[in-house]
Amino acid sequence: AERLLSVENLKVSFFTRDGENQAVRGVSFHIDAGETVGIVGESGSGKSVTAKALMALTPPPGKMVAGDIKFRGESVSRLSDKDWRKIRGNQIAMVFQDPMTALNPVQKIGKQMVEVIRRHRGLSQSAALNEAIEMLRQVGITEPERRVNQYPHEFSGGMRQRVMIAMALSCQPELLIADEPTTALDVTIQAQILELLGRLKERSNTAIALITHDLGVVAQVCTRVIVMYGGMVMEEGTVEDIFYRAQHPYTKGLLHSLPKRESGFKERLVPIEGTPPNLLDPPSGCPFMERCPHAMEKCAALPKVTEVSPSHRYMCWLAEGGEEAQSNERA
Ligand code: SF4
Ligand code: MG
Repeated sequence: AERLLSVENLKVSFFTRDGENQAVRGVSFHIDAGETVGIVGESGSGKSVTAKALMALTPPPGKMVAGDIKFRGESVSRLSDKDWRKIRGNQIAMVFQDPMTALNPVQKIGKQMVEVIRRHRGLSQSAALNEAIEMLRQVGITEPERRVNQYPHEFSGGMRQRVMIAMALSCQPELLIADEPTTALDVTIQAQILELLGRLKERSNTAIALITHDLGVVAQVCTRVIVMYGGMVMEEGTVEDIFYRAQHPYTKGLLHSLPKRESGFKERLVPIEGTPPNLLDPPSGCPFMERCPHAMEKCAALPKVTEVSPSHRYMCWLAEGGEEAQSNERA
């Protein structure tokens, strides 16, 4: 498949009064045309910061301090704001966790959609309105002809999220970045939105980067997974690599903490104990060391990345140690 996005050694820091918070510390990955990639991690793992950096939307006092982002082979990390405005929405669009912050509360939904569609596709007023109605229909909003004349507060949370997705897709982007698009929604609506993303993807071949803390969500829609922790990539692989052949202790911990949805009894969650590292003073070795049940002396140095297969890699000293690693394990 065609390489759409490549991220090389991305570093993003927030320069706060307490010091430099190194939120993203050298992240590399790629997204090919048409694929759905899950970027997974707990809060503070750097996944949302990475997502924003992909669109040059890092808020101050944050700054991309190193690395390169290429879109269709061309570096976009040092483009001017003017050039970015041509890419944003058109080629790369974003859907956020809380659609209310992205919608104008005092403007009718139809008017907001028409503006976006006209700006990106240069359609006439009436053609853009027809397109808006059609997009609302496609995302499953009934009576869209009536709905375009309503205000955001007249929509439910799930419907507002559908509107955001409709707006993003009406610009026919090649890449859609969705940051926790279902987190604020109840489980039923969440499932509907995920199904919707899957269906729209099939139709339009838009690539999706889905940022989430929930591996269950990833299992439903993604083809590949990037697992982040402490501002770094811990493991990367296809959905099969991650769900059946996980190597990294952090990935295994995330898999254990998945609710067993099929069991008729109360969900059994096994959270990973401990807290993520302080990125104002990040560890020089493995970021997961403080919480890892297999931590050993050499984990104080940054682990090498080991390739399991062309699609699957992880960053952990256990890859080397074998027997020796086991015998050095902390009690
Ligand atoms: Fe655990 Fe060490 Fe592997 Fe880090 S490098 S995940 S501390 S075993
Ligand atoms: Mg987030």
